[in-house]
Amino acid sequence: MVLTEPITRPAAGEVTIRDLFKSFTLNGRRLDVLRGIDLQVRGGEAIAIVGPSGCGKTTLLRVLAGLEDPDRGDVLIDGAPVHGIGNQRAVIFQEPRLLPWLTVTQNVAFGLEVRGTDRIKAAEKARHYIRLVGLGGFEEAYPCQLSGGMAQRVGIARALTVQPEILLLDEPLGALDAMTKLTMQEELSRIWREEGVTMILVTHDLEEAIYLADRVLVMSKDSGTPTRLIDLDLPRPRDRSAPVFVALRR
Ligand code: ADP
Repeated sequence: MVLTEPITRPAAGEVTIRDLFKSFTLNGRRLDVLRGIDLQVRGGEAIAIVGPSGCGKTTLLRVLAGLEDPDRGDVLIDGAPVHGIGNQRAVIFQEPRLLPWLTVTQNVAFGLEVRGTDRIKAAEKARHYIRLVGLGGFEEAYPCQLSGGMAQRVGIARALTVQPEILLLDEPLGALDAMTKLTMQEELSRIWREEGVTMILVTHDLEEAIYLADRVLVMSKDSGTPTRLIDLDLPRPRDRSAPVFVALRR
């Protein structure tokens, strides 16, 4: 057989969402939350989704993570349809939900151990990511000995340790104070560049979205119409000292 055209494969971690629908039934009434979402995220790309409270951002992430089943539509990773949580994805929530009876290292290694990595190798890898998020020296600490920002870093290290191709982040820095938030944004940006993961970030913070993402999408909330993801088409600032002004008209 002669191949006349080169075979093009999507970069690892490419996410395709096609015509995705999700509704809930609340007090006997149907609530259509996601209505025909289409989205393409390139492998290694960082996108941020912003939008009014209740428009369905978390629901979209939960469907992507396999924590909710869509009513209709497809989620494809690298061109293949997916169901449920796979090794390719990791989710970081606003609250890291660490296991209080385990040390930082044990919390971070936990995800690897349940995937079958032996205890010593898992701990070794965990310590690498603990240092990567700037927590070297706290390997044997317990969650109750950590600040909110430190606990969130442990959550990020835990997600990275399984070396996902795709990171799903739901308001990961929402609960942090302003200074910790800035440091963590810088850390996330560095990790994203170094690890080459695809990042899908949901945030209320437009400045954070612009700083961290290649592409910022606004999710619409108009009921009865398809859910639109409007690309803000913003230039990505090279550094934080360059101000970016965004005017949004409803
Ligand atoms: P956002 O993250 O944009 O604030 P959500 O995705 O959390 O929005 O929620 C979208 C809508 O779906 C909200 O009206 C919320 O009350 C509703 N919703 C989310 N999860 C459930 C659920 N498990 N059962 C019923 N309604 C839900």
